[in-house]
Amino acid sequence: MKNGICPKCGSNEVLSEVPLKGSGDRPPYVDIHEPEPPNRPFVWMPKFEQSRFVAYICGACGYTEFYASQYQSLNEGRKKGFKA
Ligand SMILES: [Zn+2]
Repeated sequence: MKNGICPKCGSNEVLSEVPLKGSGDRPPYVDIHEPEPPNRPFVWMPKFEQSRFVAYICGACGYTEFYASQYQSLNEGRKKGFKA
């Protein structure tokens, strides 16, 4: 889909990187954060990574794929053991 071709119908009429919008006060997102340390300091703020999404939409059949826009940051968090 990122190559501009719909995997369902083969059309090249694909809308790229359309940001997802939410109905509430902010668009849909995911976040992952650092696990709480065993000896948690009195003041402790977990590090975190978060991402919104972009959509790729086929203009011929409506097939849609979603991609995390900050996937690289999410992956860096994953490597550090961050969890949802
Ligand atoms: Zn299609």
